[in-house]
Amino acid sequence: MRASAADRGSRRPIGVAIVGSGPAGFYAAEALLAGGGDVRIDILDRLPTPFGLIRDGVAPDHQTTKKVALKFERTALKPEVRFYGNVAVGRDVMLDDLRSMYDAVILAVGTPLDRPLGIPGEDKSGVYGSAAFVGWYNGHPDFRDLDPDLGTPAAAIVGNGNVALDVARVLAKTEVELADSDLVDHAAQAIHAAPIADIHILGRRGPAEAKFTNVELREMGQLRDCVPLADPAQLGEAIGPMSDRDRRLREKNLATLAGFADLDAGTASKRAHFRFFAVPTEILGGDRVEGVRVARARLEDGRLVLTGETFEIPCGLVISAIGYRSQPITGAPFDADRGIVPNDDGRVADGLYAVGWIKRGPTGVIASNRPDGVAVATSIRAAFDRGRKPGRQALDALLARAGARPVGYAGWQRIDAAERANATPPAPRRKFTRVAEMLAVLDAAPDRGDRQSAPRGAGEAARKQPAAT
Ligand code: NAP
Repeated sequence: MRASAADRGSRRPIGVAIVGSGPAGFYAAEALLAGGGDVRIDILDRLPTPFGLIRDGVAPDHQTTKKVALKFERTALKPEVRFYGNVAVGRDVMLDDLRSMYDAVILAVGTPLDRPLGIPGEDKSGVYGSAAFVGWYNGHPDFRDLDPDLGTPAAAIVGNGNVALDVARVLAKTEVELADSDLVDHAAQAIHAAPIADIHILGRRGPAEAKFTNVELREMGQLRDCVPLADPAQLGEAIGPMSDRDRRLREKNLATLAGFADLDAGTASKRAHFRFFAVPTEILGGDRVEGVRVARARLEDGRLVLTGETFEIPCGLVISAIGYRSQPITGAPFDADRGIVPNDDGRVADGLYAVGWIKRGPTGVIASNRPDGVAVATSIRAAFDRGRKPGRQALDALLARAGARPVGYAGWQRIDAAERANATPPAPRRKFTRVAEMLAVLDAAPDRGDRQSAPRGAGEAARKQPAAT
C-alpha cells in the first residue's frame, strides 16, 4: 500500500541546522544524537575547517587541549550528521532561509570580535585585540594579513585571563619550545625574529582577582628563556568572601605568584612582569604605539579605586586580552550591551536556539559549552516530535542555486591530511592560512586522501556527502 503524504511527513526526521562548528556546536550535535530518535543535523561553518576555537583560539602549544577534536570528529562522522564547511550564513544562505528549511536552527557562532579598551590611543598602529592577534598566530584566514610589527623590546598585554597568558607564553617561548606546536609559519618567523625582552601583563585588579587558571599560570614558571616576575608588595592581598572552591583556586594562584616574586632574571633573555592594580588609561605615541599610561589602583570593598598616581610603560606592542563580543546576525535579535543573542536558557524564538559564547558570553573552558548543548537538545526534543520542514534537501538546492562551494567532512579530512603531510616534525601540522589554499587542496587531489586519514567510517560518511567535496 502506498504511504499517504501525511504518513510520509510523519516519518520525516527532525531537521536541525547548527551554525558554527566550534565546541558549542559540536556539543549541541552530540546532545541531539544522544537523545535518540530520528534527527538529522547539518553543521555549517563559514570556513572550510571545522572546530572553531579548537583550531583558531586554543594556543598552538596546547596540542593536548586540541585533542577534543577527535571526539567531535566521531560526531561529525555519524550518518545523521553532515558538515557544510565554507558556507557562510549571511553570504551563502540567510538565517531566515535556514529557519524556513529546518525545524530548528542553533546559533553557535561564538564571540569573534574584540572588546575595545575604550581609552585614547587604542587606534594606534601596534595595538591589537587578542581575537586578531591570536587569530593571526593560529592562522585564521581573517587575520592572515594582520602582519603585526614585533620589532620592539617591550610588549604590554592588558588583561588577567587565560588568553593574556596564552599570548604572553607564545611571545616568550623559544623556537625549540614551539617546535612541536602548530604555530603558523608567518607568525613563527615574526615571533622568533622579534627582539621582545620584556612582556608586561597588566591586571586592573589584584592577584586574587586574576582569572588565570593555575595550570596556565604555572606554565609561565616553566619557560626555558623567560623568567616570570611579580612584585612581592602586590601579593599580600586578602581574599574576600567566596566559595571554598574559588578560594582554593585563588590561593593556588597566589602561591604560584609568590614563587615568581623571588626569582632572579639572571641570564634569561626574556622577562614576563605581572603587574597588578594597573589600569591602562592611554596608549601613548604618534601613529605607532610607544607606550601605555597606567593608573595605579586599589580595591575598596571590592570596588576598583584609582589612587591618582600614574606611570608609563614604554612598549611598541600592546595586546588587549580583555574578552570578546559577538556581532549581530541578520534575522536574530541582539543584546548590544551584553554582546549576545538574548535567550531563555538557549531558546531565542520558535525554532531558534543559541549555545556557547553567543548564548552566555565569553566565559568558561571548552567543556563549559556542553550543558548548553544538552539544554537546547532537550528543548528541541520537547518542541518537536517529528520533522516538518525539508531540511538538508532544501539547503543543498539553495546552495547550488547560490553557486556556493560547500566543503564536506571528507573534504576537511583531505585538507587535514595535507596539513599533516606538509608539517616538519615534531610539528603536528602546517596549517593553510587562506581559504583559497584549502580549496586548492581539494582541486588538486579530488580523489585521494580520505581513506588514509579518516578513522573507520569516514569513507562511508564521505560517500553520504555527495553535495560537498
Ligand atoms: P577573561 O578570563 O574574562 O579575562 C579577561 C580579563 O580582562 C580579566 O582579567 C578582566 O579583568 C580584564 N579586563 C576586562 N576589561 C578590562 C579593561 N577595560 N581594562 C583592563 N582589564 C580588563 O577572558 P579571556 O582571557 O579572554 O578568556 C575567555 C575565556 O576563555 C575564559 O573563560 C578563559 O578561562 C577561557 N580560556 C581558557 C584557556 C585555557 O583553559 N587554557 C585558554 C584561553 C581562554 P576583571 O576581572 O577586572 O574584569
